[in-house]
Amino acid sequence: MSTKRTSKSRDPQPLWADHASIRVGISSCLLGEQVRWDGGHKRDRFLTDVLDDYVEWVPVCPEFEVGMGIPREPVRLVSSGRSTRMIGVDTKHDWTAEMRTWARRRVRDLRAMDLCGFVFKKGSPSCGMERVKVYVKSGHPARQGSGLFASELMERFTNLPVEEEGRLNDAKLRENFIERLFAYRRLLSLFEGRWRIGGLVAFHTRHKLQLLAHSPKGYERLGRLVARSKGMTRAEVRAKYENLFMAALAEKATRPRHVNVLQHCIGYFRKELDGVARAELQEVVNDYRAGVVPLVVPVTMVAHYVRMLSVEYLADQVYLQPHPKELMLRNHA
Ligand code: SF4
Repeated sequence: MSTKRTSKSRDPQPLWADHASIRVGISSCLLGEQVRWDGGHKRDRFLTDVLDDYVEWVPVCPEFEVGMGIPREPVRLVSSGRSTRMIGVDTKHDWTAEMRTWARRRVRDLRAMDLCGFVFKKGSPSCGMERVKVYVKSGHPARQGSGLFASELMERFTNLPVEEEGRLNDAKLRENFIERLFAYRRLLSLFEGRWRIGGLVAFHTRHKLQLLAHSPKGYERLGRLVARSKGMTRAEVRAKYENLFMAALAEKATRPRHVNVLQHCIGYFRKELDGVARAELQEVVNDYRAGVVPLVVPVTMVAHYVRMLSVEYLADQVYLQPHPKELMLRNHA
């Protein structure tokens, strides 16, 4: 029986949640599968022991699936001037055509699975997202390429949140990636079946503060799009909204933008809160601005007053809980 923590297993439904499970593609070796060229793995404890509670992994090992076997001869990327080839280190066997054909087919199949993101193994000639070694004629490598599977996936799924396991050790990159996984799931659900403009307006309203923390300009652009949406085809609105929404969230939320959002929230309590409580709340926001407390502190206080004072508009704002609190993504300095 699945023990995943989905929206159905909690009551009341948290703001980050969605009815569908969050499917995330992953380089198989990061899950501990022994698929590497030497028969080993690269298990990543955060992914397998923490994030695993919230997502359904879709493992992919390009080199095993294309038929290279385990163990196998390692391959590397080699620049031939006009193109980048995938070459066996000893035999010099050229795997490029097989890998590209397989990758096209695999990516097409993955599109049908409603993936919400992908975690790649860094540095791999198949899975690396960026800065993969590409060898030139002189035999020296330059860190300038992407793995053949990773580049095919990123070209076809332009809005899909993608990251490498190494970069997820950076607290800010980790928070941004995971926030986008949950956001993309909600976006896919919005556009499922016969969606209405009214549904899009409600979605956009619920995400206002979250978007403002990332990109005030992106929020404005999305607002203009929603306002003009009645004169456009549904397909056009969907494509444009999805592009702008995911691009806005890909901008890293900054401390000054969070402070603006928190001040905006405090404005909703102005009449109901007495002077002492308001000053206390303001002090916590000031402490966050100064880097003395992490973001989770003022946001928890704001959420407390939203519940206590029944501030309906804020109660719906995804910003207050964009991802499960157990992941502690807002607890870093
Ligand atoms: S990096 Fe990619 S190709 Fe290499 S073992 Fe891991 S999943 Fe397989």
